[in-house]
Amino acid sequence: MTDADLVLVDGEVHTMDPARPRAHGVAFGGGRIVAVGTNAQAEKWAGKTTEVVELGGKVVVPGFIDAHAHLMESASRVGNVDLGGCAPMAAALDVLRAAVPHAGPGEWVVGDDWDESRWPEARYLTCEDLDRASPDVPIAAVRVDRHMASVNSAALGLLKIPLGTRGFDATSAGRPTGVLKEDALEAMWDVVWPSAERLARNFREVATRALSLGITTVHDVVGADEIRAYQIAKAGGALPLRATLMARDRLLPHLAAAGLSRGFGDEWLRLGAVKVFGDGSLGARTAALFQPYKDDPTESGMLIHPPRELRDILAGIHAAGFPSAVHAIGDRAIELVIETIEAVAPEAGPRHRIEHAELLHPEHVERMARNGIIASCQPNFIGQWSRPGGMYEKRLGFERTARNNPYREVLEKGVVLAFGSDGMPYGPMEGIHWAVNAPFGIQGITMDQAVAAYTVGGAFAAFDETDGGTLAVGKRGDAVILSGNAWQEPETIRETHVERTIIAGRVAWRAP
Ligand SMILES: [Zn+2]
Repeated sequence: MTDADLVLVDGEVHTMDPARPRAHGVAFGGGRIVAVGTNAQAEKWAGKTTEVVELGGKVVVPGFIDAHAHLMESASRVGNVDLGGCAPMAAALDVLRAAVPHAGPGEWVVGDDWDESRWPEARYLTCEDLDRASPDVPIAAVRVDRHMASVNSAALGLLKIPLGTRGFDATSAGRPTGVLKEDALEAMWDVVWPSAERLARNFREVATRALSLGITTVHDVVGADEIRAYQIAKAGGALPLRATLMARDRLLPHLAAAGLSRGFGDEWLRLGAVKVFGDGSLGARTAALFQPYKDDPTESGMLIHPPRELRDILAGIHAAGFPSAVHAIGDRAIELVIETIEAVAPEAGPRHRIEHAELLHPEHVERMARNGIIASCQPNFIGQWSRPGGMYEKRLGFERTARNNPYREVLEKGVVLAFGSDGMPYGPMEGIHWAVNAPFGIQGITMDQAVAAYTVGGAFAAFDETDGGTLAVGKRGDAVILSGNAWQEPETIRETHVERTIIAGRVAWRAP
């Protein structure tokens, strides 16, 4: 018996392991958990070099798994202009205008996270608006949902997107409005996206932020640049948390041709599901609904792939040995995805997943349970948009809002629930808060269920339940020490903060 690296004693340890749900002490050695149980059971691993932490009753949980993240993508935003807190619209334009003199020759000004639902104007930014910030330095302002951006005239001139391109918004007279979605948005990203080297350099900052929130693993949506950036970061010793990569579906032919499938890699960096878009977002009214949008009866959203095409894509992913992770928010998209998975993978087992899965009908949940399809959901969306008069109610009306994100029903019907944030914003405790304090009965779940969705659920979705997700002997040494006691005071969950984040049995982050 070698000495432990780290021993925690006198904690309120919520292991998330049904065989032993509560403990006081945990000992970590060789990157793994070597003891969970009484203080004495943990302490007996302590030696001369062991760090012993007296918790004084503080809460310990397994390291959080953010099952839907864009962490390496968010490294692209380091240095961008933050429009998140800007209201009204003029304030966002002021912030952009102030950034213009700092753009080097040939550089763009990129702003993130504008949200017209916070503005009295309640409309999207246009080319005309942005030209008032600068007529000649290219500006791209990305909406909070990342499914839309607005650009100014200088940017339109550089992008040269042909009229008629999908998602390239124009007036009836054929003048571009500056609003870019779908393919037009992709064309913008092709020009604006930073290099893999720059992403890797920026990664330390976003990873540190994730650690400060207790996130020890992300299921990260990535393209080729982000995969390369992850490898650069890892080779440079700058990968402080674990990443299961959800490669975008355009990479599938290459992955499959190389003989790669899920699980390839190691415990820090490996391949997970393949990410596919089924529809758009509610904010942009592109999520595919059966009934039209409440605030635009002419619109009911869009399917990104027609049914035959989606079937070919999912069949390809399944045949290559990957789970698919299909973005589907509206009920029409969700139903198509379920139908398609049932057709290409009739046996439960491959752990295909639906990302967001917001507007679920009861029969969708039943079919997901039967087929073993995982619900990968973002409870922070409830906090953002479920308030009375909020975005959900505007777009969907009250009835559909009250049915949206039905986590309780999902669990009751036996569907595996994996929580993530979609980076909007990151923060497991914020998400857990809204899952526990949800406004509608069909949504609200218990603290244990919510923490399990942010730990055990993500581990299961990544076929990682034997090594991660709970605090149990032999598992990876990933844990979080929290302030306060969210179990005793559920209404203050979101005020809880992380005191220390432990990865591979070492303290990787501590509160200043
Ligand atoms: Zn996403």
